[in-house]
Amino acid sequence: MSIHDRYRLSVVINAKGTYTPLGVSRSSHGVAEAVAQALPEFFVMDELADRASEAIAQVTGAQAGTVVHCTAAGITLSVAATMTGGDPRRVAALPDTTDLHNRVVMPANHVVNYGHSNLQGIRMAGAHVDLAGDETRCGIDDLEEELDGPDIACLLLVSSRLTSGEPIDLVAAVRAAHRRGVPAIIDGAAQFPRIADLLATGADLVLVSGQKYLGSPTAGLIAGSWPLVQSIRAQDKGIGRVMKPTKEAVIGVLAALEEWQAVDRVKWEADELAKVVAFVDAVGRIPGVSADVVPDPTGLQVSRAVVRVPDAKRVATELEAGVPSIYVMTDRVDANELMFELIPLTGDEIAAVLARLWAVLT
Ligand SMILES: *Cc1c(COP(=O)(O)O)cnc(C)c1O
Repeated sequence: MSIHDRYRLSVVINAKGTYTPLGVSRSSHGVAEAVAQALPEFFVMDELADRASEAIAQVTGAQAGTVVHCTAAGITLSVAATMTGGDPRRVAALPDTTDLHNRVVMPANHVVNYGHSNLQGIRMAGAHVDLAGDETRCGIDDLEEELDGPDIACLLLVSSRLTSGEPIDLVAAVRAAHRRGVPAIIDGAAQFPRIADLLATGADLVLVSGQKYLGSPTAGLIAGSWPLVQSIRAQDKGIGRVMKPTKEAVIGVLAALEEWQAVDRVKWEADELAKVVAFVDAVGRIPGVSADVVPDPTGLQVSRAVVRVPDAKRVATELEAGVPSIYVMTDRVDANELMFELIPLTGDEIAAVLARLWAVLT
């Protein structure tokens, strides 16, 4: 009996990308096996954390790394780390920030909602947020204006398809922060494949979600400078307690990082692109429908299929209402465009999507 039947759960075909309400991603059998091996065992959790640090450092080129519950937790704990350092008294006092520098500066157009607002993720540590620029633009000059204060704890930058307006020059932004002695944190939750590029901006900490493009169990990977990573680990005895990674998540991250390094990325990217091209070709044969391959706007080596249909909203609703439920990206449904991400889908699932599109549209 399938796990879906056993617990009376809807079967889902997820063409919506690494989307939290749908379970985000598929782990490989190798990762699932490592997790299954970990669950019945005991470990010295500090050792597990040391191995994770070594593995993250080796894969990313950072000095050190750590695993926390998820990227949202990583935001809160990175902010906490910049405020408290490793001081146990301060760690224990959070979110009370009396006597601490507790301002976080971030571009106003990097305020995003991935289920909750990242502003709340920062405030949970006890910090206050000062926004630079506005929703459409934050230039380096805007950032410097906000950084011009005595009590700034850190800077948060988000690199994501959720951000609005003109993208900020990350290298220049990190440099601006460093000129004021302010550490720079980049939230690149869906950017695991580009983590080395994000570290190359000079950022002190880069946060990514393991369960997005790495395909690990739910986990936040943090890569960065040795002292700041140690300060994040110190939060285990403070607010980090409620954001801790499970033993099976850390083992899953180790297994997923090993697999990642063994994969031929060039071949992987070519295969994934071929999948999208074939899908676009097939969808384009449905009368009244046109489709194209679109590259990821943030520079990930990932392509998606944009499908233009009459009454896209109705089409999306019908795809979801069927069995199995098919979910697609609907950000541009008002422009009658649906977006499909195919990475986790099997050949059978792609065939099922095509059959349903034919049925709904003709
Ligand atoms: C998904 C996402 C998050 C949250 O990641 P979790 O690992 O689910 O906590 C944070 N920031 C951005 C930009 C995201 O896309």
